[in-house]
Amino acid sequence: MRFADIPGHEDIKQHLRNLVDADRIPHAMIIEGPAGSAKYMLARALVQYIHCTSRENGDSCGRCPSCLQHESFNHIDTFMSFPVVKKGSTATSQDYIKDFCNFVEENPFMDFQTWQQSLNNTNARPMIYAEEAAMLIKKLSFAPRQSKFKTALIWLPERMQEAAANKLLKIVEEPYKDTIIIMISNESAKVLPTIYSRTQRIHVHRYEDSETQKIIRSIYPELTEQNISDIAHLSRGNINYALNTISQSEDRKKYLAYFQELMRKAFQRKILDLRQWSLEISALGREGQMRFYEYCSRMLRENFIYNLRQPELNYLTSEEESFSVKFSRFVNHRNVIGLMKVFDQARIDISANASAKLVNFDVAIKCILLIKK
Ligand SMILES: [Zn+2]
Repeated sequence: MRFADIPGHEDIKQHLRNLVDADRIPHAMIIEGPAGSAKYMLARALVQYIHCTSRENGDSCGRCPSCLQHESFNHIDTFMSFPVVKKGSTATSQDYIKDFCNFVEENPFMDFQTWQQSLNNTNARPMIYAEEAAMLIKKLSFAPRQSKFKTALIWLPERMQEAAANKLLKIVEEPYKDTIIIMISNESAKVLPTIYSRTQRIHVHRYEDSETQKIIRSIYPELTEQNISDIAHLSRGNINYALNTISQSEDRKKYLAYFQELMRKAFQRKILDLRQWSLEISALGREGQMRFYEYCSRMLRENFIYNLRQPELNYLTSEEESFSVKFSRFVNHRNVIGLMKVFDQARIDISANASAKLVNFDVAIKCILLIKK
């Protein structure tokens, strides 16, 4: 990651550059600010700049062996710590390092919810455990292999167990001379105060609307300017929020099409088509199928309410509404509860890892039986 790869935040980039150029890099620093900004990217660009052997024009070169190691998340003197959930009795970031690198690559704005979901255990709260801190301190105690400085990136220090924070405090208080610890925090008020007070703070402000618009436009050039400006305004500088809003509305369109097809084919009793439909739904993946069945429940509820002719109670997009105008009369007091149960049960079964193809086909058959009631 080079500074040039990061949109906006020019003042922070200059400040970080100055610290390195003047050889005034603090041993412990915290890059803090609201979620959904480029804090982690800035931290990555900073360590790459520190280690680069041929810096040019205030940025790392992107070509030297050290830069190449950084670009592939393989820098020999850089360690990454981040919140994880326990696997059995132990849990360190080492157990999840591959997943984390993929996550960082795909989510440069570091959406915590996406990370939590990728851990596949939505009930557990991801934490940085004491054993992680112990491991990190041990790694930092060795001499650097090829660089002047060893660097550690700690994502979300506010999620450190107290025992972990107390361990880390010792090396923040008495740092090894060749070590730089960089913490990246969304909620620095929750960081252990004794750690916080001993670190140099770099505050990253939220993105301005115009910057958010630029970022959205670069990722989704097909959106209209009105759309881009609405989303930027609503997201208040949180790029994760903006990107999630867009992908949810894309999902909604896709789910509406699948829901329409299910209802239409169930009404026509086209069993072979529904078999194909159930295969297509299976391809959405576990999370996607769970969201789809949640969507089905919502559409069912909205269509039932639609019959009551109380528009203030309805929350439908214009596309959904144009479908509901004709469809809602098929949802009535005889079948609404049965259909609701079918979708709820499907979501539960999918979340419990039941065979998706069977579950989806079963949904289709039950819809055939219920839709003409
Ligand atoms: Zn380089």
